[in-house]
Amino acid sequence: MKILKIIEQPVRLQGNISNALVNFSSHTVSVVAVITDQLKNGVPLVGLAFNSIGRYAQSGIIHSRMIPRLMNASPDSLLDDSGKLLSPEKILNCILQNEKPGGHGDRAQAASAIELAIWDLNAKLNDEPVSALIARHYQRTRYSNRVSVYAAGGYYYDGENELGLTQEIAQYRAKGFTRFKMKIGGASLAVDMKRIEAALKVAGAGSHLAVDANGRFDLKQAIDYAQAMKNYGLLWFEEAGDPLDFELNSMLSEHYAGALATGENLFSRQDVKNLALFAGMRRGLDIFQMDPGLSYGITEYARMIHQLELQGYSREQVYPHSGQLIGQHVVAGLGLGGCEVYPNIFQPMGGFTDEALIEDGIVKVSDAPGFGFERKSNLMNEFVKLLASA
Ligand SMILES: [Mg+2]
Repeated sequence: MKILKIIEQPVRLQGNISNALVNFSSHTVSVVAVITDQLKNGVPLVGLAFNSIGRYAQSGIIHSRMIPRLMNASPDSLLDDSGKLLSPEKILNCILQNEKPGGHGDRAQAASAIELAIWDLNAKLNDEPVSALIARHYQRTRYSNRVSVYAAGGYYYDGENELGLTQEIAQYRAKGFTRFKMKIGGASLAVDMKRIEAALKVAGAGSHLAVDANGRFDLKQAIDYAQAMKNYGLLWFEEAGDPLDFELNSMLSEHYAGALATGENLFSRQDVKNLALFAGMRRGLDIFQMDPGLSYGITEYARMIHQLELQGYSREQVYPHSGQLIGQHVVAGLGLGGCEVYPNIFQPMGGFTDEALIEDGIVKVSDAPGFGFERKSNLMNEFVKLLASA
């Protein structure tokens, strides 16, 4: 197998929404296609992917550094041991040639988009979903296509009362979700507690409701919120402070008996090792949220999970940030705790296939080959445009 061409384009995310710190109206995502000399049903085999939501398209790094490295490599040096598939590990090594270790920033998302497209390609060659390929590749003995999923959102609405928020959560309930996540930190503590109490009435119980501060609080604010929320029995308290402030997270864990969640802004195994060592993360309780679409793809992601297990944590404590098809396949393939989804927003990337149904908080991975992008029409439109540009 030989890679003939790799193409990439930025796609703008739809919607004008904000969390406590970031407005997403200018955000973009890189869509990538890897075109090979292999034919499937008479047409050239193409691997498709994108980097995840929230960190912008990475066109510059992909075009100026990564595509030239791959196209300069000898085709045989990129194959796996069977000689039939491309090796995601060798592809990742190749696109990171001459890059210093550490300092994982935008290049982690650039690499993700390409590495993930290789998984899509290999799974299509095997005629199987990526989740099944991941499970076999990492010798998982148990594999299920049923993934636990929660509805994330819970935004701020204009006006004094909590009607918008409760209506939003009620909508998710009606769609089959049983667990929900809402934003905090965008209003005063008193207003946020009123919002949480209103949301709890619809969610049913604290164990069905997580809250996300998107890294906004200093230690005092984080502890004030922890004290105010301590009797709610929430599912988790997410990204209280700066994602790299491990000391803050560690000190907060001494003031909050419930689960803390963090990790969506860490992009490497080494960062996750440090998080596990220094941030007070508790075994069997706290939640890790790294995203394979932001952190060099599935190869590095599997290393992160292995690292966590070496340090005594369970893979069921891992709930990747992402809210899209790639995250769903990774959760199923690696047997992680579950995934999030933002119903109706972050289109065209957000959400699962057009026919996906949520039942009792569970979504099934489709049996479509690859990630199944072909069964998500608005996303597939972007890939069709990308391929037309080639
Ligand atoms: Mg978050």
